[in-house]
Amino acid sequence: MAPMLAPSLAALPLEQRYARLPAPLWTRERVTPLDAPWLVGWSDDAARALGLDPAAKDDPATLEAFNGQRALAVEPVAMAYAGHQFGVWVPRLGDGRAVLLGEARTPGGETWDVQVKGSGRTAFSRVFDGRSVLRSAVRELLASEALDALGIPTTRALCVVGSRTPVRREEEETGALLVRLAPTHVRLGTFEWVARSHPEHLAALADHVIAEDLAGVVDPTAADRHRRLLDEVVHRTARLVAAWQAHGFVHGVLNTDNLSIVGVTLDYGPFAFVEAFDPGLVVNHSDPGGRYAFDRQPEVCLWNLGRLAVALAPLVPREAAEEALAAYGPEFGRAYRELMRKKLGLAGWRGDEDDDLLLALLQTMSEGQADLALTLRALGRVDPADASSDAPVRAAFRDPRPWAGVAARYAARLRQDGLDPAARRAAMDAVNPRYVLRTHLAQRAIERAQAGDGDEVARLLRVLRRPFDEQPGEEAYALPPPADAPPVALSCSS
Ligand code: AMP
Ligand code: MG
Repeated sequence: MAPMLAPSLAALPLEQRYARLPAPLWTRERVTPLDAPWLVGWSDDAARALGLDPAAKDDPATLEAFNGQRALAVEPVAMAYAGHQFGVWVPRLGDGRAVLLGEARTPGGETWDVQVKGSGRTAFSRVFDGRSVLRSAVRELLASEALDALGIPTTRALCVVGSRTPVRREEEETGALLVRLAPTHVRLGTFEWVARSHPEHLAALADHVIAEDLAGVVDPTAADRHRRLLDEVVHRTARLVAAWQAHGFVHGVLNTDNLSIVGVTLDYGPFAFVEAFDPGLVVNHSDPGGRYAFDRQPEVCLWNLGRLAVALAPLVPREAAEEALAAYGPEFGRAYRELMRKKLGLAGWRGDEDDDLLLALLQTMSEGQADLALTLRALGRVDPADASSDAPVRAAFRDPRPWAGVAARYAARLRQDGLDPAARRAAMDAVNPRYVLRTHLAQRAIERAQAGDGDEVARLLRVLRRPFDEQPGEEAYALPPPADAPPVALSCSS
């Protein structure tokens, strides 16, 4: 039987558990309404995950509540936090443009933070306007729902509300709200801020996360529960980053305030999926040093976890913290190889031999400017008994010559396993997406939305929610941008 969904936002059971923590950790806020709000995009799947009937989309009260024109059962709060940005400690960040409407409990017993990003000024806004622009809200909606469909842990996005409120960035844009769902919005940087500014509340924050967000995972009565918390964050982050690396997701701004304490992808700014394979891809134009390049994500996330360990020092002895951090590398390697085993369609991972094969393949893809998603998808078409079966792989390369060097090796490796080609292809198609969120696709949907039309956001979202399926009629969404298309510059500005 389908679970009972709340028929309206007002009927959704909401609590404000974060406000049970001591007051310096949060402030009471409200959403400052945007002018002429309209619903730009909406995820039915996110609504169901939240326990909300997707038909609530058509209820004017839904939009009014998100736009601060209608109160809900609990009062919104903004969360205090800080973080290391590009390796430098920034002592005062906090939800400068987001408020937590409350935590919803689903019929299945899960809880989701419901947050409005782009809420208008809060106590943490510093000199900024507290707004988000339509461009960045649409990108976050599409990306969070796309990563979720790929099986990558992430916050979710319920909807984007557009407006006529002008917002000044590099040029004038319009303000928008993103309604974001997360198991919790506590970040590594939340712990850093509390450890430095209010160390007397550090244990309370840790115990809150353990009780509310890691129930059934970390025993809240155990004497070493804070060590277990660190273990859990280390393991989850390692697995998360492994999924990013396997699918070619570049986050772009891996500051400690953008890393979730429960290991989900958090805060989509200048992110991108790797298209023509480039291990050192830097997507953020505000990152000239490449600190957050694609291939540096694993090490930089470990560095971030090190900052968490420092923050937890009063609760977790140094030796125990070092032991916890030492598990990151092995867990990352295990998770990454397991994902790549599936993506390459191998029965098992033959240690160094398969490490070398993978490295050679990635090197080949880089030399031949092979589209990552298309190449992996095409590898499922390779039949070692048919030499011409690799035509789709060659087609995924701009320059297919380098592929020749690894083609025979891959075919030989498949022969060792001797799997049935059709069964192997089906299994590979379930892990190698045909559709990923390409920057030019997002850009087209944004331009249409900026002109007042959300249809392209809806259509792209529908395609991205079924990334592994062949979708007749939607083939164009699987293609890289034309070679002569102007590049889209991605900055931190949002
Ligand atoms: P972000 O780059 O969105 O992760 O933001 C970093 C920090 O700056 C967070 O604490 C945000 O809440 C804050 N922030 C970013 N943009 C704005 C804005 N337009 N108004 C107020 N605060 C902002
Ligand atoms: Mg952030």
